[in-house]
Amino acid sequence: MTDSTTISNTANLLKYLNLDQKGSVQAEYIWIDGSNGVRSKTKTLSKKPESIEDLPEWNFDGSSTNQAPGEDSDVYLRPVATFPDPFRGGDNLLVLAECWNADGAPNKFNYRHECAKLMEAHKDQKPWFGLEQEYTLFDEYGQPYGWPKGGFPGPQGPYYCGVGTGKVYCRDIVEAHYRACLYAGIKISGINAEVLPSQWEFQVGPCEGIEMGDHLWMSRYLLQRVAEEFGVKISFHPKPIPGDWNGSGLHTNVSTEAMRNEGGMKHIEEAIHKLAKRHKEHIAVYGDDNTLRLTGRHETGSIDNFSYGVADRGSSIRIPRSCAKEGFGYFEDRRPASNACPYQITGIMIETICGGLE
Ligand code: ADP
Ligand code: MN
Ligand code: MN
Ligand code: MN
Repeated sequence: MTDSTTISNTANLLKYLNLDQKGSVQAEYIWIDGSNGVRSKTKTLSKKPESIEDLPEWNFDGSSTNQAPGEDSDVYLRPVATFPDPFRGGDNLLVLAECWNADGAPNKFNYRHECAKLMEAHKDQKPWFGLEQEYTLFDEYGQPYGWPKGGFPGPQGPYYCGVGTGKVYCRDIVEAHYRACLYAGIKISGINAEVLPSQWEFQVGPCEGIEMGDHLWMSRYLLQRVAEEFGVKISFHPKPIPGDWNGSGLHTNVSTEAMRNEGGMKHIEEAIHKLAKRHKEHIAVYGDDNTLRLTGRHETGSIDNFSYGVADRGSSIRIPRSCAKEGFGYFEDRRPASNACPYQITGIMIETICGGLE
């Protein structure tokens, strides 16, 4: 636990952000590190890139991020997607990059590479995903934000989709993040306050194929950047408070084109039968410390058993009531933890329901 957090002086910064950049563009290269976090650094470009190919490959010291040994520390950054930068504005860019080793192999934490191959192999099925990212806010002293010092707030009940003082905390951060995502072109589809006090959720999707992982990682980056300005820490831990308090998940909503059309329920059921046979393999990539969350209580299924049901929030897979009624639509995998990697989740999902790589 750190004992001080400096809140950045964004208001002072604004007058400098209005200064002329004289034609240069600032490109913020963002990558996923060796401990499930994001890192970034900035490169000045002499002119605005027309496409992703105009963005140079770059590198960083992988020994400082748990991504490479000290004696062979260069890790290469290959740009894969760009987004307008909501912090610097103008032509400035956020650049999502994949990590590659000097020997030409993908870095061991580069889960995007494998996922992109699976998505490419099955693109004719037009897989859509929608992720519900839950997270919790902590103050500078490492306490859940707004919780009484050394004590607990009243029991869960008033906080979910809460309105009013004492029921929700840090709506300013949540609103700032929402707008930053919209500016950046992230397909954020909504927000809500969650069951645990100081816990929130945002949804990203539907996104097709590899776009899901890209947009979710960028939305996590934006959330942590916004929260810096408020001196608040974001926790993606799946059970931030032990005991009778809800954990955090990354519910994964899935459909293929066949599932979305007339008669789609047959395809949804087939997918669920395939998922039942690979429960362990899925749980293995659905996030660390998920055992603490998937207890069969607090709107979760048990980590040891696969189950599914219509409108059942205590099962592994939920078929939304409206889909069951219409006979087509999508299903929700409720197992992934809030700290899971969206490339790993969507990758194994497609592998299980559509098949692996030849
Ligand atoms: P919940 O009722 O579980 O809280 P939410 O409204 O929070 O559901 O999230 C539903 C998610 O499902 C959204 O991210 C949305 O984009 C996604 N979604 C909706 N339709 C589809 C679909 N056909 N395929 C995949 N995802 C979908
Ligand atoms: Mn939700
Ligand atoms: Mn939720
Ligand atoms: Mn859900």
